Amino acid sequence: MPSYIDLHVHTTASDGSDMPKQVVEKASQLGLRAVGITDHDTIQGVTEASEAGSRLGVEVVPGVEISCQWQRKSIHLLGYYFDPTNPGITRLLEGMRRGRTERLPKMLAKLRRLGIDIDQEEVEAEVCGEAIGRPHLAQVMLRKGYVSSFEEAFDKYLGYGRPAYAQRPRPTIAEGIRTILDASGLPIVAHPLTIKASLEELLIALCPLGLQGIEHLYPYKFVAGRREEWYEGVPRRLAQIKQLADQYDLVLSGGSDYHGAIEGKAPLGSAQVPYEVLQRLQDRYQELFGHLPSACTA
Ligand SMILES: [Zn+2]
Ligand SMILES: [Zn+2]
Repeated sequence: MPSYIDLHVHTTASDGSDMPKQVVEKASQLGLRAVGITDHDTIQGVTEASEAGSRLGVEVVPGVEISCQWQRKSIHLLGYYFDPTNPGITRLLEGMRRGRTERLPKMLAKLRRLGIDIDQEEVEAEVCGEAIGRPHLAQVMLRKGYVSSFEEAFDKYLGYGRPAYAQRPRPTIAEGIRTILDASGLPIVAHPLTIKASLEELLIALCPLGLQGIEHLYPYKFVAGRREEWYEGVPRRLAQIKQLADQYDLVLSGGSDYHGAIEGKAPLGSAQVPYEVLQRLQDRYQELFGHLPSACTA
């Protein structure tokens, strides 16, 4: 029987609803052999997850997800196995978290002008970790009855270009890739099919910067939601990712982007990523840095 893993998971350290150890417990119950903790802008959840992992025999892959900018588009960059004490990446992540905190009052002011009255404290009460995000705000809107679903909060108010949206500073993709590499980590572009650009154009720009991999297996069905037309093109584009990865010498990665048991969102393990994917990631790490990532030898 093949063993499966999930390399893209959020916890309460950012905007997931499960604590890091709960994620690992669930992974263990599902029979997943490894789980990658990739919270937005923080590695706060990694230690707790790793402890649970060694207790339960689930390999925990340390990581992070950083929203970067490329040609006015938002690109999510995953970084795996970087040195958590590296000053460059520590500074970058701190700056990202500060940007999140500073954005909140701006969004609240915009909502207030739209007749939605939410206090900063109410949102902060939703946050367990150190990276505050729009899902926390959506949660309060839902609870107070301003919207009837999580999606509605984003579609009507909080999503990019919607009336309560506020920008926060993002590093360029070049800066993101460079910072992860300099911290001895593997930079991998997340859910590429959500980026509104041609895949080839994207890789032509990102590979010379040092991009090492591309997320391939991803539960796009859940992203598509009701947009069935969009989903029809997904299998063809996934095949294209495989072919381009080969051409540009990128490793393929995969994960569910699990955020907790939220209705309509992808369940843990749903990307059905085989364990070999992680082995190839580790091989690439070894090729680049001359030794296996330290989390593997623990
Ligand atoms: Zn993402
Ligand atoms: Zn994610």
